[in-house]
This record gives sequence, C-alpha cells and structure tokens, in this order.
Amino acid sequence: MSQIASRIQSIKAELPAHVDLIAVSKFHPVPAILDAYDAGQRLFGENRVQELVDKAPQLPEDIKWHLIGTLQRNKVKYIVPFVHTIQSVDSPKLLDEIERQCERLGRATIDVLLQIHISGEESKHGFGIEELKDYLSSGAHKGLSHIRITGLMAMASLTEDEEQIRREFARMQALFTEIKATHFAESETFRHLSIGMSDDYPIAIEYGATYVRVGTKIFGQREY
Ligand SMILES: *Cc1c(COP(=O)(O)O)cnc(C)c1O
Repeated sequence: MSQIASRIQSIKAELPAHVDLIAVSKFHPVPAILDAYDAGQRLFGENRVQELVDKAPQLPEDIKWHLIGTLQRNKVKYIVPFVHTIQSVDSPKLLDEIERQCERLGRATIDVLLQIHISGEESKHGFGIEELKDYLSSGAHKGLSHIRITGLMAMASLTEDEEQIRREFARMQALFTEIKATHFAESETFRHLSIGMSDDYPIAIEYGATYVRVGTKIFGQREY
C-alpha cells in the first residue's frame, strides 16, 4: 500500500461517520491523487482554478471536486461544468455569477458553501458575520434557482494557540446553528460545516465539522 493510501485509511478510521474527508491535493501531481483515489478517496479539494481545470480531466470522473480557494468572478465559467461544490463563496456578487453561468452552461444545480471570515487575519476572505445575516435576511438567495447553499466554511487563524482556534471554531458552530434555525430550518441540504485542516481537524470535529479539509497530513509537504 502506498504511504498516501495508508495515511488516508488511518485518518478515515478516526473520523466519525457524519464527517467527510476532503483530500486537499493542491500542488500535488496526478499520480499522488490516483494513489488516494485507489484507497477509496472520492472527495478532493483544490484551491486554484487553473490547477483544478488542468488536473480534473486527467482523473476519474467520479471524483467530487471541491473548490476551496478564492474564486474570481471571471473564472466561474471554467469550473461550473464539472465542480461538485464551491466551498469558498465569499460575496453575493459571486453567487450571482455562479447562478448566471449555471443558466448559461446548462448546469442544473451546484452546491456551495458560504465562506465566513472568522479569523482576525486580513488576508482571509469571506462574508463578515453581519454581512452574512443581512444577505440571508434580504432573501436574495432564494431567487438563485441553480444554487444550493449546503452550509458554511471557514479557515481558522494560522496560530499555535489552541484556545484561539477553539474560540473560532466555537463561533462557527454557533453561527451555523443560528443560520440553520433562522434561514434553513426546512432545508435538508443545509447541513455542512467545513472547518479543520491537517493541524486542527480533530478539534474541528469537536465543534461540529462535517467536512474536514486535509492536505499535508495525506500528501506531505507542498513544494511551491
Ligand atoms: C491548503 C488548504 C487546506 C489544507 O491545508 P493542510 O494544512 O495542508 O491540511 C485546507 N483548506 C484550505 C482552504 C486550503 O487552502
């Protein structure tokens, strides 16, 4: 068994049944992704459109691709035909563009997570908490017939301070619960909280993660 396959198996063995592993394959080549695929992995995450568009056609069609990195509006059209979930939706304008491209390209529905800016870091993208609440209260999302909002995504601060990470995950869990109750109480599809990466996914699971996005711990260090 390859090292990648054995890492996948040991991570999966620890995950509760309601948590899905997204294997973050950015900067790793197609053969490494195939090793993970052969170990049964089907959900993969990439953070750059160009890399995703290059790799996807070289890999099996039953892979569910998740875009997890910043998406510029002018690139939406390249991924709408095949991507499973866009986890990094950070503005109403981006939602509108995804809707428009689904209509244009004949994609019936696409799953998205709304990314929340939870850390104090300027560099991270996402809806502010009030911005998210205002947007959903406006009801604008209800007019987007090609988009299924399946949950929320966030990146915690890059820090060794576990208490800070716990505070951020706890805020996300509370926000998820509130948003679900307020805006998606009748929805079976709004059910995902995507938090947790290689260094903090066991903590994220304590705070209700349903997707964990793990790269380094599966594929090793990335060479940029
Ligand atoms: C790269 C990346 C990950 C995975 O990071 P690791 O620390 O390698 O597990 C998760 N989420 C996002 C948004 C990323 O860009």
